Amino acid sequence: MSDDSIPRQIFAALQSRQAEVEAFIQALVEVESPSGDEEGSRAVIDLLVQSAGRLKCVDAIERVDAPEFGQHLVIRAFQKQNAAKQILIVGHTDTVHARGTLSERPWRRDNGRIYGPGIFDMKANCALAIEVLRTLDELNVAPSFGVSLVLTCDEEVGSLSGWPLLERVAGSKEATRYAFVMEPPAPGGRVKTGRKGTGIFAIKVEGRAAHAGLEPEKGASAILELARQTEQLHAINLSGSGITLNVGVVQGGTRSNVVAAEAQGEIDVRFSTEAELLEIERILSNLKPIDERTKVFVSGGINRPPLERTPAVIELFEKARAIAAQLDFELGEAQVGGASDGNFVAAMGIPVLDGLGISGDGAHAIHEHIEADDIARRGALIGGLLVSV
Ligand SMILES: [Zn+2]
Repeated sequence: MSDDSIPRQIFAALQSRQAEVEAFIQALVEVESPSGDEEGSRAVIDLLVQSAGRLKCVDAIERVDAPEFGQHLVIRAFQKQNAAKQILIVGHTDTVHARGTLSERPWRRDNGRIYGPGIFDMKANCALAIEVLRTLDELNVAPSFGVSLVLTCDEEVGSLSGWPLLERVAGSKEATRYAFVMEPPAPGGRVKTGRKGTGIFAIKVEGRAAHAGLEPEKGASAILELARQTEQLHAINLSGSGITLNVGVVQGGTRSNVVAAEAQGEIDVRFSTEAELLEIERILSNLKPIDERTKVFVSGGINRPPLERTPAVIELFEKARAIAAQLDFELGEAQVGGASDGNFVAAMGIPVLDGLGISGDGAHAIHEHIEADDIARRGALIGGLLVSV
């Protein structure tokens, strides 16, 4: 079999198993697993382990307990290949949809689209990762390196325990050659070659209470100070940098006739580069009160570092584009504001290609769906990448 025919062979093999693959996706979707639902998490892992356990390319399966969330899953395959390096595949089994969503919006196939809570982000892609391994097995082709598939169970809430697990499995940039992230693609099936980093901060203002009618001059309003700080902070959004900042929640005061002694806000920040991260940290740690009678405190920090569009990422994208061309489709790329587990891996200096999941729309929304036609095509793209990088 010539190398450039492999993606087409994978495509044909997956297409011939379309019904089985859809049934596997359906089984995963029909076990609800919102983040923090331990029982749901374990039940999804059971299904994945059952399926992966039957593959001859799979060398080891590790279920990693994540207290209060359920379990993460690590599947190691093709370990007999070049042992010095590995390829990492990253995904997650948790969804944002509360238990009961499934009965409101059950699995539904309509006009080539398949609807279901968490299908696009990303139950279908958990299934696809295993189906790609199965197909390589069947075709008797092996990737250039061993493969470690890591599925976290707390991605939608920041991967507090998923992050250290990813770092452990990835090891270092010497140990992991590339990472492929199974997150949903951008519109038009575009893969993601850049993701902003995220930070969550809190701002707290202490003012001075006073009777708002009798002696307002003795008060220093924490609410007014917070409003002024908010206005200044939001001006960063207009500065032309890649930083975005949003004071998204505010609270403060006690009664309308009292000058507010306290106010606080929650801040979401996004940044594209390490330099912007340092800049935002500098700004937030140096906030000075505008009314000097008040005090301003900032706490919090970075949740996910940025996934930068480095030359190594561009090279990986070009490879993916060439494979897509063999499959007769044009692969685009996008840089997005939302972060994923790919950000953690990118921060280790490992080239990451994200957004490799099946096309569709409506992540976290009511119309969440995938395009049934894209399953085999996307699988062929991923399989092609595994054998050619
Ligand atoms: Zn996701």
